[in-house]
Amino acid sequence: MVRALFAEVFGGAPASAARSPGRVNLIGEHTDYNGGLVLPAAIELATRVSVRPRADALVRGCSRERGEARAGLYDPPAGHWLDYARGTARVLADAGLVRDTGFEIAVLSDLPEGAGLSSSAALEAATALALIAASGVAEVAFDRPELARLCQRAEVEFAGVPCGIMDHYAVLCSEPGSALLLDCARVEARAVPLPDGLEILIFDTGIERALREGRYAARRAECERALEGARFALGRRLASLSELVPSDFERLERTLDAVALRRARHVVGENARVRALAAAFASGDLEAAGAAMFASHESLRVDYEVTVPESDALVEDARGLPGSVGARMTGAGFGGCTVHLVETGHAHAFATGLARRFRDRFGREPRHWFSRAAAGANLI
Ligand code: ADP
Ligand code: MG
Repeated sequence: MVRALFAEVFGGAPASAARSPGRVNLIGEHTDYNGGLVLPAAIELATRVSVRPRADALVRGCSRERGEARAGLYDPPAGHWLDYARGTARVLADAGLVRDTGFEIAVLSDLPEGAGLSSSAALEAATALALIAASGVAEVAFDRPELARLCQRAEVEFAGVPCGIMDHYAVLCSEPGSALLLDCARVEARAVPLPDGLEILIFDTGIERALREGRYAARRAECERALEGARFALGRRLASLSELVPSDFERLERTLDAVALRRARHVVGENARVRALAAAFASGDLEAAGAAMFASHESLRVDYEVTVPESDALVEDARGLPGSVGARMTGAGFGGCTVHLVETGHAHAFATGLARRFRDRFGREPRHWFSRAAAGANLI
């Protein structure tokens, strides 16, 4: 389909095409920028792109979702969706992986934008694979973690989004049926297979992201403050809050302000819960898996203060439904989505029941999606 869109808009065939999944984080929230652990999984919703290099430096884009755009490869960022594709091309050219020419790109996606499912990383990852394949300078069997770093760089430096490595790693390095246990400080990951018979459900609270960005920045600043305070109180070199251990808290309770203390406590507890969920998946202990997810939500509600009534309700209401394994908010919070693990046979009744409860409480229909843990990005 993305090849047909390309032919319709630009005429002729593209040189290559690629798809990239979005991702959902199963656990490990606000730990990425605190040097901690995350456990995302790629999802079946995906972005597809097709590209064809040009002889000049013009970049022409057509997105089914966002419309047409054009700019020079070396023009400054324009605050437009095409920045993500141009930024990726520029970073790849700098790394010597593609020729620094313009290109045409067609995009289509079934990932909702701005819902926290990483439509931006998917666009960059698919663009990167397609451009590398089209340019022929490097093999596409290229080091995936390295490609994730380059795509992250494109998003930070060119699109101007101060994001971590998780999204790009998850969409490029995931294996089907598995989540990815990623250490954000070491930038090392391993696949953690999900137990059989589980469905991932994602519910959208429908709360706009525009209202969230200032508060995300505030959390980051509070963590910086907590880290400074902890270094001073403990007299230790600490690279991040994730280097704190539970026994440090006796002293921290006497020295950190109440807010900084709660943020630090969330980070340390959340890293332990990531390990607990990964271990529960490995042993097939669904009760322990659910306990880790619900405890994560509770910590995000009480200690990190990033949940909203809509996400609290989706998690609380999930508890009583047949087949429910675990639930929590996912992504930065202040709205966004919740993620649910549900036994496959119950998934549809679960979704109907949860949507009805949401409608009763908030008077509107919540968007939701089903997925299995999917494969990372590939050429198509
Ligand atoms: P997300 O949580 O979905 O990654 P972001 O704000 O990080 O949200 O990225 C969304 C941005 O990515 C959009 O504003 C747009 O610029 C770009 N984008 C994502 N999907 C598409 C698409 N299908 N076509 C064009 N641009 C897209
Ligand atoms: Mg994004």
